[in-house]
Amino acid sequence: MKKVQLRAYAKINLSLDVLGALENGFHQVEMVMQQILLCDDIMVRWDPQNNETPIAIRLSTNRYFLPTDERNLAYRAAALMAEKYAGDRRGTIIIDIKKRIPVAAGLAGGSSNAAAVIHAVRKLWDLDLTLDDLCRTGAQLGSDVPFCIMGQAAANKALKADFAKDPLACHCALATGTGTDLRPLKGLRSHLVLSKPALSVSTAKVYQGIDSVEIPEHPDNDELIRGLVTNSTDLIRKNMINVLENYTLKHYPIVMYTKNKMQKMCSPGSVLMSGSGPTVFGLCRDAEESRTICRKMLRDNKESFWTRTTW
Ligand code: ATP
Repeated sequence: MKKVQLRAYAKINLSLDVLGALENGFHQVEMVMQQILLCDDIMVRWDPQNNETPIAIRLSTNRYFLPTDERNLAYRAAALMAEKYAGDRRGTIIIDIKKRIPVAAGLAGGSSNAAAVIHAVRKLWDLDLTLDDLCRTGAQLGSDVPFCIMGQAAANKALKADFAKDPLACHCALATGTGTDLRPLKGLRSHLVLSKPALSVSTAKVYQGIDSVEIPEHPDNDELIRGLVTNSTDLIRKNMINVLENYTLKHYPIVMYTKNKMQKMCSPGSVLMSGSGPTVFGLCRDAEESRTICRKMLRDNKESFWTRTTW
């Protein structure tokens, strides 16, 4: 049986700006996304036995509370790849997900799982597809999936050689439109601490709520990108702004508490909420500092991690 093992990395937002609401309910965003080393392990096997149905999908995971059917984004990714590219193949796609990325955390955990399945099916079926092709498929599943596809192509040992010449393989990108128009950027090299308060935040609810709150400060993404290109910590920190904090920190005081606590231990301006939250991350000088701060965050939040960006 052929198999592919991939790391499905999480992401953080170094900035997140909402430019306006679209008629279809989606929001127009402008944000810098950065891939990080914290990951789930995804094993995908292809069993080409004859089945009643042309393609069957089986999914298992170490998180008992996650669905293992169509409600799981990784399952939907396999179904979409089968619908588009199975041709006359018959058999079973078997997916096993070992999760470490906290769920509903603002870290694109589900999206990264879907991205890994898309990559794996391309490899298992020897499909001649570019990253752009894979991203178009990914965008049908969720707006964070294309970035995860690009990031995994740059960081996964099993994929690097296949996409070495593809300009979309990157660890960091500017996302515009509904988040799926991506421009690769020079990434940030930093150690990190992450802490997720014990609550789930619905991305949809935060985006619905953001239209009715005042946003005092927006990131200047051009300046942030200049900061990344020139390694200017000042320019980066000055623009580490996530406008969704204006909703989430106000409605979930525990997220505010987590941010305040981390801020006391990290350099000024280097702590931010990722995505719609509730995970808060902080940039650290080195691995030692990230471990020390993580130990202190663990006293409040069981889901705290020390990690780094991918590069
Ligand atoms: P994003 O940052 O892209 O908004 P998130 O990190 O906030 O994502 P996810 O971890 O992707 O959120 O989970 C969001 C919802 O998706 C959860 O309610 C969860 O039940 C569901 N879900 C479906 N498939 C998965 C998966 N493979 N892993 C995690 N969650 C999944």
